[in-house]
Parts: sequence; C-alpha cells; structure tokens
Amino acid sequence: MDMDFRSAAPSRKIRDYCFSIAEKFPSVSLFTIGCSLSGQPIDCMSIGAGEICHIVVGAHHASEHITALICVKFVCDLAKAVRDGMFLVGFDAKQIFSRRKIFVVPVINPDGTDIQQGVFPCGHILFPRLVSMNPSGRDFTHWQANARGVDLNHNYDAGFADCRLLERNAGIYSGGPSRFGGQYPESEPETHALCNLTRFLAPQLKTAVALHTQGEEIYYDYLGDCPRGSLMLAECFSRVSGYTVSKPSGIASYGGYKDWVISKLGIPAFTIECGKGENPLPPSDFDNIYKKVLPILLTAAAFG
Ligand SMILES: [Zn+2]
Repeated sequence: MDMDFRSAAPSRKIRDYCFSIAEKFPSVSLFTIGCSLSGQPIDCMSIGAGEICHIVVGAHHASEHITALICVKFVCDLAKAVRDGMFLVGFDAKQIFSRRKIFVVPVINPDGTDIQQGVFPCGHILFPRLVSMNPSGRDFTHWQANARGVDLNHNYDAGFADCRLLERNAGIYSGGPSRFGGQYPESEPETHALCNLTRFLAPQLKTAVALHTQGEEIYYDYLGDCPRGSLMLAECFSRVSGYTVSKPSGIASYGGYKDWVISKLGIPAFTIECGKGENPLPPSDFDNIYKKVLPILLTAAAFG
C-alpha cells in the first residue's frame, strides 16, 4: 500500500498504514492496547528485539493528527533501515533494534482525530452531544478532545486537582473542544489504555515521548522536577532538531502524559511540540517537521 504522508489521514487510514507496515516488515509487531470511547481500536506497533523499552505516542489532541503520520513514518523508516542494515540520520538502526524495543502508538485519540476531520459518523449515538458541546456546532476544525469532550492530555493523574481549579477559573465545567480534564484521572478509555501499557513496560522503560503541535519546543519537567538524565536528553533533542528546551506554564503544567510518567513512574518523559504555525498544521508541512523530529525520536530510542 502506498503511504501518503502529505495528506491528513483519519484514524482508519492510519490503521491501514500500520497493518501494511507490519505485513511488509517482520521486525514490526502490531497489536491493540485498548479501544476508544466509540469502540475504535487503539493500535500500537513495536519494533526491536531488546529489553530496554521506549514509548512514542501521537495524536493526543485531535487537531494535531499530523503527529500520527510522524509516528507511522518513523516506524516505517526504522524498519527499512533495520532490514537493509543501514544507518538512519547517523544512527545505527540494527544496534537500536538489537538492544531496544520501541512501542509506537500513532493515534491515542482516534475518535477525536475523526471528529476533527469531519469523518466521525454523524449517525453515531455520541454525535448530537458532540455538536451540542462544540461552540462552533458542526465545525470541528479546532476540536482537541475525545468523543466525550475530555481533553486527554489533562486526564492523567498529575496535579489533577490543580488542573481542575484552573479549568474552573477559566469557566470550564464540562466537556468541550479542549481543556476539560474529565471526571477523574484516567476516566477515559484512551488514557487508561496508554497508562496500562506504560505501567506494564515501566520496569524496562527508559523514555516516553508524546508528540504534539506546535511551537518547535521540548518540555521535559513536571513542576520543576525531572528524573535523572531528562535535561541532558532534552538538550540533545534540541541540538539535533533546533527545537527550544522550554518549561510549561498555566494549565499546560498539569495532567499531561509526560507529567504522569515523570511524577508517578520517575521515568524521563517529554512533550515535543512539532512544527510551527496554527493548528491544524497543513499536511504540506510534513516533510520539514519530520526532518527535525526524526533525530529526536532516534536520540530517545538510543538512550539507556
Ligand atoms: Zn497538544
């Protein structure tokens, strides 16, 4: 199957890409870590034969679905380099493969990405509620949340009460396009599935990287704290990509996947804000973004 990384892809298409990669490359395994609220599978590809584990996850936020394509191309390029015994931008793919196992979840929010792209079925039982909680009605261009209107990257168990307070101060009391963190941490099937995968891998897990857009920034701490090696790695990411090492502020400081991995598991975790512009970034930006993010993902994969 031909993969087109310069067109926005709904979750079904990303799924087809994952199947086609797993079929083409025996080094890649494909499995499901759970289901979204509407029952769509959440796929995970793994590549590598080693014991040291790394996680890469894309598309927490619906309008940032270009990150799913980055994940897919990353696995595809790594698998190709492993098969051909090639280096990938200076990294020895075979060495990464033999010592490590990289788990890549391209779309943690499949419902959201479909809602944002206007392909979530309007006959679905959840659809009327989605329209009613969206200030722009049937225009979901700026939708970030899942199909319950929960912002998945505010639904992790890291400063949840503080996050709730900031939501209230911003007048957010219930589901909507973004920023509502849900009723309790991991209330959403998508976050729960990713936490389960992460907890399962935790004893061998060396890094977790969540891809977002936009800003060309690297976030590596939680309220000023971070596990050993985090800042050094963030600075390496910055050197290989030209992205800036940053610290979050306001509501972005709490409840994210990176925050939970850092504070509850004590493992280096990062949010990478890919690309620059206004979300959703145009698919024509893909090549430039990928060129800068690929060395970050390889640097993370080579750590530990
Ligand atoms: Zn985001």
